[in-house]
Amino acid sequence: NREWHLQSRPVGWPKPEDFALVEAEVRTPGEGQVLVRNKYLSVDPYMRGRMSTAKSYIPPFELGKVMQGGAVGEVVESNAEGIAVGDHVLHFLGWREYAVVDAKNAVKVDAAAAPLSTYLGVLGMTGLTAYAGLLRTASFKEGDAVFVSGAAGAVGSQVGQIAKLKGASRVIGSAGSDDKVKLLVEEYGFDAAFNYKNGSVAQQLREAAPDGIDVYFDNVGGDHLEAAIGQLNRDGRIAVCGMISAYNSTEPVPGPKNLARLIQTRGRIEGFLVGDHYDLQPQFVAEVGPWVASGQLKYGETVVEGIENNVEAFLGVLRGDNTGKMVVKL
Ligand code: NDP
Repeated sequence: NREWHLQSRPVGWPKPEDFALVEAEVRTPGEGQVLVRNKYLSVDPYMRGRMSTAKSYIPPFELGKVMQGGAVGEVVESNAEGIAVGDHVLHFLGWREYAVVDAKNAVKVDAAAAPLSTYLGVLGMTGLTAYAGLLRTASFKEGDAVFVSGAAGAVGSQVGQIAKLKGASRVIGSAGSDDKVKLLVEEYGFDAAFNYKNGSVAQQLREAAPDGIDVYFDNVGGDHLEAAIGQLNRDGRIAVCGMISAYNSTEPVPGPKNLARLIQTRGRIEGFLVGDHYDLQPQFVAEVGPWVASGQLKYGETVVEGIENNVEAFLGVLRGDNTGKMVVKL
């Protein structure tokens, strides 16, 4: 049983030496616990935050201890009522091959209904993030023009497509490669998309959204946020989901210079955390599940094989190696 420990707190971009793959004993599950052999591990941008001691909504990873994250696996030993050997569960003890999980922190998932990895992505945390952020935080309504950054990623690709399925007048996405831009327009039905590395975000957004935007779903921050404020229509709404452009910054990042536009537009900007919106989970599954099953809602996954590549996969998410949800397959 191997597990990943955080060895030192990264400064700037994390380095492989900040982590160590350590051999650990497999414990016997106690009363009310199950032993899970993990099959898919999630790697997510927010994990960068947990590697630092900056004040946050979740405590930092402890140095010299195993890290945590979303994971799906098969129960190989059970000491808990209601969960049997052979069941598959979603839980939060990733970054390791075997996990002893309290049954109350394990959610049974149906391996026959959908591929196991989707419970970490399109049908899981990132899917719900897209759904809650767009519909609740950004108060999306039919006819809105929507701009989403990080649009080829796990959250962003769902935001754009859900907006489209729910009657957006126009959906615009930005991403970091020409191939991703092509995918957005040709496969995911975005009306327009641009590569933010090809030039000014503000100018490319003005061209892609000549009539402005009603909703901006922010995964990136920085010049994307400033550009979106610049194109915001009257009563526009900005849902701040993530600011990945700043996660490896060693200096405080300057804010948008055009906030006065929020007065002109009566615009609203609001951050949200998916953890506050799990009450929407049943509605999310009921609405999005059938779209995924029918293929109306498409999703990508980038699958990295082997626990030894867990850190590389995580760094890959920060670099943009992924299209859709990045997962590690064990
Ligand atoms: P993604 O699958 O979108 O992966 C991250 C992507 O970010 C990369 O693929 C890369 O794509 C892009 N990226 C990296 N650096 C930059 C940069 N400097 N500028 C612009 N884009 C960049 O990850 P998720 O879908 O899991 O997460 C997306 C965002 O949502 C993150 O900011 C994350 O922190 C946030 N989040 C927030 C939650 C909440 O509750 N508020 C919950 C889940 C996620 P590219 O090739 O396009 O650069």
